[in-house]
Amino acid sequence: MTTNKAHSHPSNNLGAELYKTATQIMPGGVNSPVRSFSGVGGTPIFMTRGKGAYFYDVADKAYIDYICSWGPLILGHAYPAVIEQVQAACANGLGFGTSTPIEIDMATKIREYMPNMEMMRMVNSGTEATMTAIRLARGFTKRDKIIKFEGCYHGHTDSLLIKAGSGALTLGIPSSPGVPAELAKHTLTAQFNQLDTVQALFEKYPEDIAAIIIEPMAGNMNFIPGEKTFLQGLRTLCDQHNALLIFDEVMTGFRITRGGAQNHYQIKPDLTALGKVIGGGLPVGAFGGRKDIMEHMAPVGSVYQAGTLSGNPIAMTAGLATLQQLEQADFYATLEQQTQYLTNGLQQLAQQHHIPFIIQQEQSMFGLFFTEAEKITTYQQVMQCNTERFKQFFHAMLELGVYFAPSAFEAAFTSIAHTKAVADETLNKAETVFKEMK
Ligand code: PLP
Repeated sequence: MTTNKAHSHPSNNLGAELYKTATQIMPGGVNSPVRSFSGVGGTPIFMTRGKGAYFYDVADKAYIDYICSWGPLILGHAYPAVIEQVQAACANGLGFGTSTPIEIDMATKIREYMPNMEMMRMVNSGTEATMTAIRLARGFTKRDKIIKFEGCYHGHTDSLLIKAGSGALTLGIPSSPGVPAELAKHTLTAQFNQLDTVQALFEKYPEDIAAIIIEPMAGNMNFIPGEKTFLQGLRTLCDQHNALLIFDEVMTGFRITRGGAQNHYQIKPDLTALGKVIGGGLPVGAFGGRKDIMEHMAPVGSVYQAGTLSGNPIAMTAGLATLQQLEQADFYATLEQQTQYLTNGLQQLAQQHHIPFIIQQEQSMFGLFFTEAEKITTYQQVMQCNTERFKQFFHAMLELGVYFAPSAFEAAFTSIAHTKAVADETLNKAETVFKEMK
């Protein structure tokens, strides 16, 4: 097996042509680096349509999709009820730049399941949500420093592109050039699941830390759920030092449970950032939290933020229609069972073929680790996993029509359309691949 076997497929030949054209007009041929195949070799695949658990490339080759648009598509591709509502909303116009009733419906629905978001504001991406949450935390506490964790990714805003995960990690540029040193010095980094590293920062800067921002389940350095005692420890440290705790639930919100990871752990953050699922596939983010903090936002308070397209009615329609579907009886139980069936199957197959491999899963998110370790809880452990093995697995599965993220550092996602039949199809293909890897 070679890592460029996938290039021989006619779909990829067509894709390779498109990629060549794309590189002439977009840096790296992509609009987001995680889409490039820089981390695994080869050229990105160009998709044209999706239905349920599958999407289709320019040559109409089908792939089982385990990125789900990097998280948003919890219902799968082109879910009829969502598409219908979006089409109906489009007929009334694409946006007004004024308030619309559906913004209230959307915020009310989010708060119903995430009561810690006493007030919120809609934005257009996860990046905007975390960026503004940080500004608000700084404005509210009148402090400049923040703590983030190595390997966590919170979007590409300057203060947060320090030791970042996701594409920044895949491409080996976790701390981006272009972030002024004067700003970077205010971002302190600690180690995920290692409370002593956070304690040390509070000891060094007891009065200067505005907030801790964290992915409570890290999905941008593969997939590592935070340990409950660690997250509780962060809450306590924030309380002791009058700092704010920000949960970045852009990935986990409405995925780990309807109420996100904060509901799963029963830990109350001061602020929460959302994105992905709440947009149902369209560009939406939100941040919110304690009313006394949120009232520092303009026009009530003086922390400024704005957006031409914020709360756009089409995006709100897609998001709200998606959230409504999540209220189906047993939605999350079914999603979890289906995902568990897949991950158990993959684990067993790897064992049968003596491949050192583990899967970490929570609900419909999971991570594949080629490792001898029994459990991965830290960034350092992630970095020790066998990325060459991952590349082999990735390309061989892709060739057979299964699309995992083209990086060993990204979580995988399933949707309600990823039924047991889809899992069986994946497992059959994985068996072939593991056999060859052996
Ligand atoms: N926060 C987390 C945890 C994310 O995973 C991401 C994106 O993957 C972001 C923030 C940034 O969101 P967006 O890409 O919508 O700007």
